[in-house]
Amino acid sequence: MRTMAIVGSGPAGFYTAEAALKAFGEDVRIDIIDRLPTPYGLIRAGVAPDHQSIKAVSRRYDQVAADERVRFLGNVRVGEDVGVGELTAFYDDVVLAVGAPQDRPLGIPGDDLPGVLGSAAFVGWYNGHPDFKDLEPPLDTQAVVVVGNGNVAIDCARILAKTVDELQASDIVNHALEPLSRSEVRQVHVLGRRGPHQASFTLKEVGELGELERATPLVRIGDFPPETEDAALETGQRRVVEVLRRFAARGPDASRPVTLSLDFFRRPVAVLGHGQVEALEVMKTRVDENGRAVDTGETEIIPCGMIVAAIGYRTASIPGVPFDEQAGRFVNEAGLIAPGLWCVGWARRGPSGTIGTNRPDGFALVERIAKETLAGDKPGRAALIALLAERQVPVSDFDDWRNIDALEVARARAGAPREKIVELSELRALFEG
Ligand SMILES: Cc1cc2nc3c(=O)[nH]c(=O)nc-3n(C[C@H](O)[C@H](O)[C@H](O)COP(=O)(O)OP(=O)(O)OC[C@H]3O[C@@H](n4cnc5c(N)ncnc54)[C@H](O)[C@@H]3O)c2cc1C
Repeated sequence: MRTMAIVGSGPAGFYTAEAALKAFGEDVRIDIIDRLPTPYGLIRAGVAPDHQSIKAVSRRYDQVAADERVRFLGNVRVGEDVGVGELTAFYDDVVLAVGAPQDRPLGIPGDDLPGVLGSAAFVGWYNGHPDFKDLEPPLDTQAVVVVGNGNVAIDCARILAKTVDELQASDIVNHALEPLSRSEVRQVHVLGRRGPHQASFTLKEVGELGELERATPLVRIGDFPPETEDAALETGQRRVVEVLRRFAARGPDASRPVTLSLDFFRRPVAVLGHGQVEALEVMKTRVDENGRAVDTGETEIIPCGMIVAAIGYRTASIPGVPFDEQAGRFVNEAGLIAPGLWCVGWARRGPSGTIGTNRPDGFALVERIAKETLAGDKPGRAALIALLAERQVPVSDFDDWRNIDALEVARARAGAPREKIVELSELRALFEG
């Protein structure tokens, strides 16, 4: 019997489990371990609360969890409650699917001032991740700068720009909705080093900016190259640029109190302020013939009381696992870290791609494990459960999650799908003892 421990219950973890069930048939037992008592990783804590249809992918993961060969072991922190070396002693295959939960810092003077937040923290706050429930973003400011030109930056900007009515039917947690209802933010800047042709937005996310109740998207007409150059773009990007051109043509709308301006060709150089963020100094850029942003030498000051850095993520290192500090992920060769130890998803390739990208990733890894390794006679789950009991670590299972889920659904405000439980102590009380 092959024993497999998958650490992390986000998309990469679940797709790897799905692949292993298919590859190894009756001859496998899989434990999906997560540090939280709740499953799904960034599907629950990253994907925007007003994008419920995307979150519905978790139903597919529920089918995997319901398989009798699979067990969910929640509330177990690998690297703290149990070591990776202990897991590799207990299981034939250990797969780290722990994602990339840490914010990349801006790395500029002043980036440690209060009011500078990472997007993992800001998104985690409005999505009810227990780690960020106490964040208190300074929303008593007129202007916010979101640094980054990907969908995460757009998510952050959209949540700041929406009305409470627009968020009511989402699963944004009440501890975020309430301060957002009192928010004084009227200008949201989304800062990109390069131009509209290089932005990493997808069509749906950009399109939504044109449909906001009280906010107008602003794009400078001068930021576009001649329209004839759009033809060389790949179809998806060309459609995004078409929408951005429409925003630029439309211009400001005095009937809408909030502006959401896409500030292309600007990179942050210093956060300014005494004791808290007061402004961001930016360097204007242009794109050279190799597609790289180069400084023009001209700077600009954007007054703001809050900055959200949405410029990428790093995996959290785990004792005993070789880590590439530069790349911010585990040292691995196509998923192989060391004999019996593998990684997959964002923990393997860094924070890129969509939820679906993690599926071929998981399937390819399992194909490799099947080809290169043999099932051993390691004890698997029984040994881990015994160790965790000895260490008095309470472990939750998928039925505990179903109870949490039902409670969250029952607590939802009118029209919302759920009200997440954000206190770890409250979550633990639901399955401990
Ligand atoms: C803000 C945001 C919005 C996004 N929106 C979309 C979207 O709309 N559409 C889309 O296609 N993609 C979206 N993505 C991308 C998508 O979420 C990722 O591709 C995907 O979640 C990566 O999967 P993963 O399993 O590698 O990591 P994760 O989803 O991060 O899962 C990692 C899991 O590992 C657990 N874990 C971490 N460390 C430990 C440890 N030491 N011990 C035990 N468990 C641990 C975590 O609790 C977590 O459950 C978004 C990403 C972000 C950040």
